Amino acid sequence: MIKYNLKEICRTRLKKDDDLYFGIMDLIEKLNIDSALVLGIGAVQRANIAYFNQKNKSYENFHYNEPMEILSLKGNVSIKDNKPFGHFHISLGRSDFSVVGGHLLPDTIVYACELDILILDGKKLIRDFDPATELYLWKF
Ligand code: ZN
Repeated sequence: MIKYNLKEICRTRLKKDDDLYFGIMDLIEKLNIDSALVLGIGAVQRANIAYFNQKNKSYENFHYNEPMEILSLKGNVSIKDNKPFGHFHISLGRSDFSVVGGHLLPDTIVYACELDILILDGKKLIRDFDPATELYLWKF
């Protein structure tokens, strides 16, 4: 376990037609952040999300070509390959009020998005390959 102090909270929004993943990562880069929590709500025009198949140890992607609410966007920033790496999950509300969700991928297009970036102060948290899961997980 690593303990952090909250350094600062940045509130911003992404613009219509921004790519949700790259929009967040551009902010992370501009603000020179290596450790953060990211929260967001809003709406997307379409979404690209993934499910990690634990049996095959691979991600299965799915494109939802429909406008949906961002009910919850949640994730973190840590270090992978010596640079900041964002890992985000998203729950999306469809027009029939059902919910889908998964691991956020590029090509999820913003309609509107309010973001809270909680910047943390402390030791760098590194992601490393974990043979048991075949995922890049936090190393302690
Ligand atoms: Zn994930």
